[in-house]
Parts: sequence; structure tokens; C-alpha cells
Amino acid sequence: MDVFDTIIIGAGSAGCVLAGQLSADKSRRILLLEAGGKDTSPWVHIPIGYGKTFFHPDLNWQYETEAEPALDGRKGYWPRGKVVGGSGAINAMIYARGLPHDFDDWQDAGAAGWNADTVTAAYDAMETHIAVDGTETSPETGSKSGSKSGSKTGMGSMTVQDVSDQTHPINRYFFDAAKELNYPSQNDYNQPPYEGAITYRINTRNGRRNASSRAFLKPALRRSNLTLRVNAQVDRIHFEENRAVAVSYIWRGKRHMVRAKTDIILSAGSIASPTILQRSGIGDGHLLNQHGITPLVDNPNVGAHMQDHLGINYYFKANQPTLNNVLHSWPGRIKLALQYALTRRGPMALSVNQCGGYFRSNPDMMRPDQQIYFNPVTYTTTPAGTRTIINTDPFPGFIIGFSPTRPTSRGQIQIADADPISKPRIMPNSLATNQDCQMVVDGAKLCRAFANTDSMKRLIDAPFYADVSQMSDDMMLDDFRKRSGTVFHPVGTCRMGANAKTAVVDHTMRVFGVDGLRVVDASVFPNITSANTNAPTMMLAWRVAQQMMENR
Ligand SMILES: Cc1cc2nc3c(=O)[nH]c(=O)nc-3n(C[C@H](O)[C@H](O)[C@H](O)COP(=O)(O)OP(=O)(O)OC[C@H]3O[C@@H](n4cnc5c(N)ncnc54)[C@H](O)[C@@H]3O)c2cc1C
Repeated sequence: MDVFDTIIIGAGSAGCVLAGQLSADKSRRILLLEAGGKDTSPWVHIPIGYGKTFFHPDLNWQYETEAEPALDGRKGYWPRGKVVGGSGAINAMIYARGLPHDFDDWQDAGAAGWNADTVTAAYDAMETHIAVDGTETSPETGSKSGSKSGSKTGMGSMTVQDVSDQTHPINRYFFDAAKELNYPSQNDYNQPPYEGAITYRINTRNGRRNASSRAFLKPALRRSNLTLRVNAQVDRIHFEENRAVAVSYIWRGKRHMVRAKTDIILSAGSIASPTILQRSGIGDGHLLNQHGITPLVDNPNVGAHMQDHLGINYYFKANQPTLNNVLHSWPGRIKLALQYALTRRGPMALSVNQCGGYFRSNPDMMRPDQQIYFNPVTYTTTPAGTRTIINTDPFPGFIIGFSPTRPTSRGQIQIADADPISKPRIMPNSLATNQDCQMVVDGAKLCRAFANTDSMKRLIDAPFYADVSQMSDDMMLDDFRKRSGTVFHPVGTCRMGANAKTAVVDHTMRVFGVDGLRVVDASVFPNITSANTNAPTMMLAWRVAQQMMENR
């Protein structure tokens, strides 16, 4: 049997950061196991490839939730990355640190040492900021790099790019509308004062997605102490007494076993990490017994407390050209492809989500309660069938959408049986609280206010699918139940906290009740951050790796 010092399960956003950072210690032999394949598809690297990977069966787990009574009995489609880079290889690349109180709330929930100050220091060290002119700056030291490419000493590996010079001209209507509503415009929503209309910054470099696989893992794979094994789907973790010592996985149809001398780190993401724990005997005792698994640690917090952001889009036909005009026609696409090939710039180098920001739906709110998206494009997905794809509409259009920032409903993940290949039961339990329903109405009203500004009226030809300006509060909620969906941020299913009564891991990510096992991914968030979850996931992994290196 192969033996390594450290085994990392899952080469996603967190797993790639860990492998990259921990392998700098040459004395640590590391195995990184990933269920998906290598990130060789060009659609992973070209930012506009988002539309292609969204339903791609080779790159995506394509989960489905249980039917949700509060969402009109619908089952939700939950994409997750099944490829080196994980969900960070197929996401929309918005880079959002989250708001300071998100992390102070982590500390208050028992995650000692995780607060706004400590995570800001970690973000500063992990990032390099790329300005519109290509200048690269370290937020930690303020030092600049003249060159526009390559990795630099003293600069963080994760690039955060300002692409405001490349976004679509119709975005100005969004900024004008915000001003009309007395909301400020900001340059960088990852710095104080955070709130107001912004252009989203994205984790790209030289026009290509800079997922943690490219930023952290790829350079580290040159090291002889790091081994990446792809298409290796982990079944479970094995214990001697209470110490995690080995991992079993399926590779090329056969079961394999590998031993870890020091650590096993579970980084399979918020859906898979709790199911691997459950199959390994760590979870709710009743659930495990029901599936013939002998409980090692009876901890009902495993798979529980799941939080996610739900969102909805309002679609508008525009009276002037939007991205649809180029993306829908062959000549337009060829023009964009040429622009991208020659300059690595333009719509192919960007996220579909161009503008938005943190907003208070009511000035009396203590904190921003809504994240807004303004996209200069509209699209439909073909009806569920053999090959589901995203198509841009054949007329100019744009989207205003929102997500409540800090929902209070809690869902759960459970194994459906003991078979590692079976998909888990995903039960989001959406809109389970009155507060969440109220936040939906508040968010819809905010979008209505945007749509009703004189600025936006100058752009709107007509709403389609649903007209938020004609809706009562009840109709807004009803429409949300019928049309909303996840914005792909499940967290909290192995949450961090003070003890096993309330949590699964401690503030160093060690699993309560056993030795030698950590969970490091989005599943450990004690509460969801106010916006997109990729940056906080990578920051968390980066900081844990630093601490593990210091304490070795
Ligand atoms: C479509 C989409 C759009 C998104 N857009 C954004 C965005 O714009 N900005 C943002 O901040 N966030 C976004 N997110 C969310 C963000 O990408 C995730 O929060 C983040 O990637 C989570 O990282 P993770 O390490 O926890 O899990 P993942 O990155 O999902 O990594 C888990 C890895 O484990 C592997 N794995 C799973 N099970 C096993 C097993 N049994 N054996 C071995 N390997 C296994 C998976 O294949 C995967 O590679 C989006 C997500 C999706 C899906």
C-alpha cells in the first residue's frame, strides 16, 4: 500500500490551495486525490466557457435537490465542479471577500481566531491586485510589479482583476440608476465602505481564469513531494482506534487503499465532505445505522446547518445593443473570438456577471441585506433533455437580479445509502423562516426600484417572463417560489465551532472525536458570507495551510 504524510481529498478551490502551500515543505509527501479529471478543457480556462461547463457531465457533478415545498415543489439543479480546480474551475469568477461582520460572526459562533482582522490579513497576503492598466500590486505590502505576467516573489498567488474598462457600455445605466436611488458607486467592494454599485472584480490573469488549480496547484506540481491522482473517487476514511490512517477510493473501476502517516484533509466541498464523513462512521447515529454503517462518532451536526444563497433574475428587453447582439450571431462570436485571441480581452475574458454590489434595501438596515447583479445579457436554458445548454436570446436584453445576503434557513445533506457512487440527498429547506421570506420581498422591491428609475427606463424596452414593477408583495414572493434558484454557495455542512455539541470541526479544522483528520473547504463556514463564497474558501484554506506549516 502507498504511504504519504498527508492525503488531501478533493482538488477543488480549497484542496488546490492546500496542496500548493503545504508542498512547499519538501519533507511532507502529499497525495491529492480528485474524483474528476484534469482541467484540460479550454472551457475551464476561457472565462466565457462558464456557459459550457454549467451542464457539462464530464466536468460537473450535476446534483439535484429533493423537491422543495417552499419553491413550488421544484427540484433545484446544483452544479459543482468535478475536475481539477473543483467548483472554482466552473464558477463565474466573482471575487468577493465578504463583509467584516460575516467573519466576526464566525468568531462569535465559536471559531476562535477567525474574525474580520485575521481574515483580512490572510486575504492581503494571498492576493495580487491587477489594475485596469495591468499593474500588479500586493495588498499586503503595497509593492508593485511592472511586468504584466508570470508569478512574482512577494506577490500573492490569487489574482483579483479590475476589469471595469472592459465591461459593456450599457452598465452605465445601472450606475446612473444607483445614483438616482442615492446609493454610492464604489471602485472596490472588497475594501471599506464596501456598499454600493460596483463592477465585479474577477479572479483572472491574462484573460484566463485563475482558479486555485492554476494559481496554487499548477506551479507546485513540479515538486517531487506532491502527487496528484485524478479520476480517483474517495469512498471513505479508515481509522485505527480513533486515528484516521487511510483512505479508500475507486480508480479505474477498482478499489484502492492509501495510508497517511500524519494528516488526512477532507476538501471535497460542502456536498461531498459530509457524505464522506458519514460513510466513514462520523455523523448522525440514526442515519448511519439506517444504512448499515457502524458509528464511530455520533455527531448529528455532520451534514446539518447547510446555508445557501437563493437568487432570482428579472429579464428586460433593451432598446439598444447588449451582449446578446454579439453572442447570439456567428459574425459577432467570430469577432469576439478574434478579439480574445489577439488581445486576451473583451467579453470572452469576463464573467457573465459584470456589475452589482452590496445594498441595503432600506437605509435603516444595520447591514447590507441584498447582493445585486446587473448583467448585460439574457439567456435561456434549453428544456431539460439529453444536452442542456445555455443560449443567449436573439434580441438585446439584460438582467437585474438579487440574492439575500444572510439567509437564516438551514438545510441538510445526507447519504442516500452506503454506496460511494450514489448521489446524496440534498435538502436545502429554502425559505423556512419568515425573515427569509421578508428578505425576498425586500430584494424584489429593490430591483423594482432600480427598474423604475428614469435612468433604467431609458434602457428598458419591455420586461419579459415576469414584470416586477406590477407585483404586490405576495406576488413577489410567489414569483420567487416559482422561479428562484441557488446561486451555488452551499456552506456549513461540517461547520466550525467550539465543541461537538454544535459543530463538526474546531477552529483548526480538526474533526471532533477523532485524531489526524481535518475538513478544509466551504463546508466548515459557521455562517455564509454575504456574497460569493469562492474567495473566503480559498482564504480559509490558505490560512489553515499557514497554521499547519507553522505548527509542524
Ligand atoms: C456554477 C457555479 C458558479 C459559481 N460562481 C461563483 C462566483 O462567481 N464567485 C464565487 O466566489 N463563488 C462562486 N461559486 C461558488 C464557489 O465556486 C464555491 O464556493 C467554491 O468553489 C467551493 O470550494 P470547495 O473547495 O469547498 O469545493 P469545490 O471547489 O467544489 O471542490 C471539491 C472538490 O472535491 C472533489 N470531490 C468531491 N467528491 C469527491 C470524492 N468522493 N473523491 C475525490 N474527490 C471528490 C470535487 O470533484 C471537487 O474537485 C460558484 C459555484 C458554482 C458551481
